[in-house]
Amino acid sequence: MFATLSDRLTSTFKNLRTKGRLSEADIDATVREIRRALLDADVAVPVVRSFTGAVRERALSAEVSGALNPAQQVVKIVNEELVAILGGQTRTLNLAKNPPTVILLAGLQGAGKTTLAGKLALHLKGQGHTPLLVAADLQRPNAVTQLQVVGERAGVPVFAPHPGNQGSDDVLPFGADPVAVAREGLATAKSKLHDVLIVDTAGRLGVDAELMQQASDIRDALDPDEILFVIDAMIGQDAVTTAQAFADGVGFTGVVLSKLDGDARGGAALSVASVTGKPIMYASTGEKLTEFEVFHPDRMASRILD
Ligand code: GDP
Repeated sequence: MFATLSDRLTSTFKNLRTKGRLSEADIDATVREIRRALLDADVAVPVVRSFTGAVRERALSAEVSGALNPAQQVVKIVNEELVAILGGQTRTLNLAKNPPTVILLAGLQGAGKTTLAGKLALHLKGQGHTPLLVAADLQRPNAVTQLQVVGERAGVPVFAPHPGNQGSDDVLPFGADPVAVAREGLATAKSKLHDVLIVDTAGRLGVDAELMQQASDIRDALDPDEILFVIDAMIGQDAVTTAQAFADGVGFTGVVLSKLDGDARGGAALSVASVTGKPIMYASTGEKLTEFEVFHPDRMASRILD
């Protein structure tokens, strides 16, 4: 995903390596190249501005240290600032003191929520949890079936208002009300002693008031421990505006970057944590349920600067 950004930054540092001491002009030239590399990778403008400002200031005032040459010092500073914009420390899941821990997934249609629900369920199952998936996306007829397929693959049960379960093809129980489904799902998790509830919600192609209202209603009904905003890293500059709209409309506690296996520039997705102040917690890197990782800002920064 970040191949071009990575190449651009490493070649910038290569030019520095031949220098003994760095003059202010050297630092300014380097910062300019970093700025261009970030902008070309679609990193949001305000994030680029604060990032390059911080790098310049720290590079200018850096103590000449015996252990690192000037180029290494700049790389170290850029690395630390990258870790900072990616959210700083690795953020682990906030588990409820009284289970079940309720995790609500929000995001646009096609962002990768349903896939992520299965991935997260499989990951948590591997840690000894007993998750229950809840199909509260009743917008698309296929969404419930899709979650059931994902649940089956993950070996995790799914609570779903499937008409087939009720012996009727056209009447959904709970009046097809996603809030009622979510509530029933929570009650089921409690009675069957599932310690984590993962609730898939409906998305739309674009941000709209009805989508925000429905996600907010489910949030209010469940009082979740985590609301994870799933964002397709391939959508470019729209990532930041979409994230901001969800932050304002529903609110979320963490970000999941999906489709990091794509070859898009990806910088916009890297800006989401910085713009919303919420950490990136997981990354989705393919269609298979195992193509999923806990997001470590320090490892991602090292990967970009490798
Ligand atoms: P939802 O509408 O938000 O529930 O999104 P889905 O989970 O249905 O995903 C939409 C499409 O993206 C599906 O075809 C998924 O297989 C695909 N998808 C989801 N996550 C990833 C990912 O990390 N990488 C790739 N390449 N495809 C993904």
